[in-house]
Amino acid sequence: MCDSSDDSFICYIKELPPELQAEAAAKAIEINPENAPQARHVQQLSAQEQPNNLKLTLLYLKRWPKTGVNLTVGFFGDPPAELRARILSHMNAWNVSANVVFTETELTNNPQVRISFDNSGYWSAIGTTITSVPQDQATMNLGGLTVDTPESEFRRVVRHETGHTLGFLHEHQRPEIANRIDPDKAIAHYKAIYNWSEAMTRATILNAINPDSATQTILADPNSVMCYPLPASIMKDGIAIEAGRDISASDMAFAATLYPKPNTSRRLMHTIRNSDGSWQPMEDLNVSLYIPGPITAIAGASGDNGDTHFVFVVIWGDSGIPGELWHLIRYADGSWSQMDSLSRLFNLTSGVSAVTAASGANGAVHFAFTTSEGLLKYTVRESSGRWQPMSDLHTELNIHGMVVALSGTNGAEGAVQFAFTTSDGKLWHAIRNSDGNWRPLLNLSAALSPIWTGDVATIAGAAGEYIGDTVFVFATRRARLWYSVRHRNGGKWTGLNDLGEALNLKKRVVAVGGCEGADRQSQFVLVTEDGHVWHTIRYFEGSWQQPVPLDWVLPISGAVPTVAGVHGDNGETHFIFTTYQ
Ligand SMILES: [Zn+2]
Repeated sequence: MCDSSDDSFICYIKELPPELQAEAAAKAIEINPENAPQARHVQQLSAQEQPNNLKLTLLYLKRWPKTGVNLTVGFFGDPPAELRARILSHMNAWNVSANVVFTETELTNNPQVRISFDNSGYWSAIGTTITSVPQDQATMNLGGLTVDTPESEFRRVVRHETGHTLGFLHEHQRPEIANRIDPDKAIAHYKAIYNWSEAMTRATILNAINPDSATQTILADPNSVMCYPLPASIMKDGIAIEAGRDISASDMAFAATLYPKPNTSRRLMHTIRNSDGSWQPMEDLNVSLYIPGPITAIAGASGDNGDTHFVFVVIWGDSGIPGELWHLIRYADGSWSQMDSLSRLFNLTSGVSAVTAASGANGAVHFAFTTSEGLLKYTVRESSGRWQPMSDLHTELNIHGMVVALSGTNGAEGAVQFAFTTSDGKLWHAIRNSDGNWRPLLNLSAALSPIWTGDVATIAGAAGEYIGDTVFVFATRRARLWYSVRHRNGGKWTGLNDLGEALNLKKRVVAVGGCEGADRQSQFVLVTEDGHVWHTIRYFEGSWQQPVPLDWVLPISGAVPTVAGVHGDNGETHFIFTTYQ
């Protein structure tokens, strides 16, 4: 269960020499006028600093035009065609959500992106500054990458460095994450491992980037491919940041906000699986509603009168609220309510990064969500439509570290259950009784297996075979897929069960949604890294149906970064997902 691969990942941002800074700033503004420093940022500089050109150049953005990124790529050192093709395919992985195309060309054609393989590690220049790097120099270095390097390393490294070329900075230098690092411990750690000076560690790890003046994701995302893994030993709270190994749902949405493809970034698809196993046609909710921007998280639960409730997070949209949480009801007659902004209702001062929902007693629907700081919040919508005040679960359950992924389902007697991960990949389980009291938090990773490190990236839960039983499915960053069943009687768990083996699904699962179906089944939809979407059922006696590729049944193509399931009436199950197709 342990993985021996080296998880350290260090990359440098290639800075231009001072004499090229002014030219790079002028070029950035010429390429995209929105790169110009905002007046409020210039005013923040002191009077002595203002005439200093170099200081001013730190304030401009380095984004490519909103109309898209179309760059040529050349290689130093004449690498084999197989290596070049693999690198290009990972660079173009950003194309699943964004208008981004990289095309190979000969060095003699003066390619805009120039890749070398010398032993100086991994690095890239940022965004439009690549146009100021002298033509005989590389803009990106992939030291040590060969055709024998594992695919997982290509995915993490090439996609990360390409993110820099698109203008993205390091996610761990956002204040929400950087402020969790202990400076003294970090300086000692990077000195011991990489022989870095204090200045180097401060510049690369510790110095928080002002989110207002930088090009990085809109909300802090510890799962971003642009985030460094940070060991527990250098964190103030002792909780590691596992970091992303691939373009995350929020990376995809952020790229789609900067470089949108026409008509693809607002899709919110809904479909129903009938109890006989047939599927109803997909409906794109952006046709009848107006989805304000790309969606990064989605969840749902059933209410009363056959209503189904959905919540979703728009990373950045026309309302201007980052990470805005929206609520929507599908009525039993198939019509949809208006969308309501829960961010406005609760006057949230932080963006929402993850969300889940569960059905409680008396038609109430329970919602748990995390803020950009990784704090867990909670609210309940009563069947009357009244929302209970938002509560702070982080304090109430004494949670340490950032909460990253979460999933909820209904348990016994009006109780609701939640499983969630902290940034170190550890799993936790919480139960809220119908009287509103929470039972003590369970360290689920430790309860399921004494030798399991966790490493969970995504979770879904569903009600199980007997009333009050619950089934949770967990996908890890290292391509393992597990499930465990919690029995109502005594709260016993079945341990860590290998779902990848049971389903013969060997690909890494990047998104999962689940819900209760007819005949005490638990149903799950799984999205694999190759973009396929699968549906499977756990039957009441505990066997699993071999997964059905949903893209054979429904016209789904392209990336599906997030999916949720909701138990409906008459054995129907609702699935809602986002797509950039
Ligand atoms: Zn980097």
